[in-house]
Amino acid sequence: MKEDTRSSEEKYVDKHEKELYKRAVKYWGPGLQIEMMIEEASELIHALQKYKRHKDEDTTMHVCEEIADTQIMINQMALIFSKEDIKIWRYQKLRRLTEHIINYLGRSTG
Ligand SMILES: [Mg+2]
Repeated sequence: MKEDTRSSEEKYVDKHEKELYKRAVKYWGPGLQIEMMIEEASELIHALQKYKRHKDEDTTMHVCEEIADTQIMINQMALIFSKEDIKIWRYQKLRRLTEHIINYLGRSTG
């Protein structure tokens, strides 16, 4: 069996991640969390634009940080909007992506 090398903080976050999102939405409310979602998405866009202009360790780490911020907010959005509808859309989009990839591969190898 593989040894669990996570810190106690990492174990706590992993165990309580969903609860943290619920508490954040309850504490600050959907309106403020939607504002935060917009802010974090915007920060990610700016980090990606900066990365495109200049690729180095700092811009790479900044993109990673903003992806994490955005993912945290997206998980909260799933609590505010319909988790089921998001899931349905996600599968539709992934099916479409699969079709595009299969079509592309069929064309490029055939
Ligand atoms: Mg951010």
